[in-house]
Amino acid sequence: MGLVVQKFGGTSVGSVEKILNVAECVREEKLKGNNVVVVVSAMGKTTDHLVSLAKEISAQPNKREMDMLLTTGEQTTIALLAMALTQKGLPATSFTGWQAGIITEPVHGNARITKINSEAIKSQLSEGKVVIVAGFQGVTEIGEITTLGRGGSDTTAVALAAALDADKCDIYTDVTGVFTTDPRYVKNARKLLDISYDEMLELANLGAGVLHPRAVEFAKNYNVKLVVRSSMEKIEGTVIEEEATMEQNLIVRGVAFEDEITRVTVLGLANSLTSLSTIFTTLADHHINVDIIIQSTTESNMTNLSFSIKTDDLNETLNVLEDYKELLKYERIEAENHLSKVSIVGSGMISNPGVAAKMFEVLAANQIQVKMVSTSEIKVSVVVEEKVMIKAVESLHDAFDLSEENE
Ligand code: ADP
Ligand code: ASP
Ligand code: MG
Repeated sequence: MGLVVQKFGGTSVGSVEKILNVAECVREEKLKGNNVVVVVSAMGKTTDHLVSLAKEISAQPNKREMDMLLTTGEQTTIALLAMALTQKGLPATSFTGWQAGIITEPVHGNARITKINSEAIKSQLSEGKVVIVAGFQGVTEIGEITTLGRGGSDTTAVALAAALDADKCDIYTDVTGVFTTDPRYVKNARKLLDISYDEMLELANLGAGVLHPRAVEFAKNYNVKLVVRSSMEKIEGTVIEEEATMEQNLIVRGVAFEDEITRVTVLGLANSLTSLSTIFTTLADHHINVDIIIQSTTESNMTNLSFSIKTDDLNETLNVLEDYKELLKYERIEAENHLSKVSIVGSGMISNPGVAAKMFEVLAANQIQVKMVSTSEIKVSVVVEEKVMIKAVESLHDAFDLSEENE
């Protein structure tokens, strides 16, 4: 008997009708003779709604209480799905993250899973039950409730698939697979039949919200066969695996994008050996994630430094820079908001020079100004103004032959 982990996201469990549809998907998997563990998210926009309730009370709600609040969303879904399955004659048990033995580091809001004690799940499976686990949540060694970061139910599913040595992990969502770019924004985006872990990891890290980056990391590290597919349409999804076929030998496989980026520029930094390490250590100590960094030296031998952050982190960044002004020794700070990051990703880039050059040519031809650049072996990212983000995505998507018509 095989074991399959199925995960259903918020839109797939957004109403009672949809929960009944999920129960049907679970039944079909059971009928194939497999044991099934189901991971579910909170219904529809529940998590967003809970976040806004908290924000009505406090601009910076306590992180422990935030986790306590947000984990209630998933708890509703597991109970309803267990009822729906029982109603269909399929015995099922629901587990919260802590009942399922999902242990995380002691961090609120964005915890990593450190261990899974899977005995309770295994015992229920051995009794022939379907086990339903609340996604996105865990517990610390001392019993504090944590969450895994927005979109983290994917990670619950893949981590469970790894811990239980499942035959595969199916991520059911509101699109039919992983596309060359977000199909909600680019109508001629094309569904990929398969994609490598590395390419998917880059896309997820660079803003493609279809999978939580840590889910892809787990899948790669534990070699979990991961499939993204639709919960509504019964068609083949996208397989994420070690070596994907080089469909059409395309150099670029996908375009990802992310808005709400801010560029911070520190002007007139003393040109000393330690000024960079001091500034970035100080920011890191305050948990500020810095992305692209550009450094230049002025004629008067001072250093100007630009770096990009999430706009959400701007206030905290400015406060930290101000608090440490004496130590950091700079003249002034500038910040530019309403920026976005657009990235092209593909393993074929490693052996193909000129991809970045072509990207800049395409953007220039579309009058899009590039404000920052960063590259790795398999991606090139540019920071552009938010108002031209979709235009940049569409023109790159076309120029690198990713659109549907080119199939
Ligand atoms: P779920 O609630 O099922 O977890 P998400 O909203 O987290 O669903 O993820 C699915 C969404 O991801 C899609 O609706 C789509 O808009 C978005 N998305 C972003 N990039 C891509 C991509 N490259 N391929 C497919 N979907 C993408
Ligand atoms: N409910 C959580 C969120 O909305 C987790 C998830 O859906 O994966 O982020
Ligand atoms: Mg998601």
